Amino acid sequence: MFELPKLNFAYDALEPYMDAATVEIHYAKHHQTYVNNLNAVIEKYPDLAGQSLEELLKNLNTLPVSEEDRKKIRNQGGGVLNHNFFWSLLGQTKQIDTALVAEIETNFETVEKFKELFTKTAVGHFGSGWVWLVRDENSKLQVYSLPNQDSPHTMGHTPLLTLDVWEHAYYLKYQNRRAEFVDNWWNILRVL
Ligand code: MN
Repeated sequence: MFELPKLNFAYDALEPYMDAATVEIHYAKHHQTYVNNLNAVIEKYPDLAGQSLEELLKNLNTLPVSEEDRKKIRNQGGGVLNHNFFWSLLGQTKQIDTALVAEIETNFETVEKFKELFTKTAVGHFGSGWVWLVRDENSKLQVYSLPNQDSPHTMGHTPLLTLDVWEHAYYLKYQNRRAEFVDNWWNILRVL
């Protein structure tokens, strides 16, 4: 059974950039619901027990499950793994990942240019979804957005950074001002 991972910070630790009410509802309600819904599907398939969520999403298209359950694993499993990764990247104290910075500079010239591209992609994504920095199958970095809870793992890509741009991630504090949310989020992205 999959579990909701503990947060590395208190609900109010990301203020004022991400407010306590949003963090609590996002984590304890939205994220928890994805965990519950995923477990309800996985328990139907004892053969899948022991596989990591990364493996399940990587092999999504060939899993021995019904098409209806494949869609549930895509949505609910992606919902769990995306949020696990999202929270792990956040905090008020910067712990810069120097290897990641070097890789970004190799691929995008400067961190600033990368941030511009990522921000533009986040603000421009239509509807619910996530923005990703990934390492692709040729070890090149790519920035793109995916709808809903789709995972780069299903495309054979390795996620390096991500931002949730579903309205539930920002609406209480920022309402329709997604661009302001994205600008503020850079302050609590620990690793960059
Ligand atoms: Mn979310």
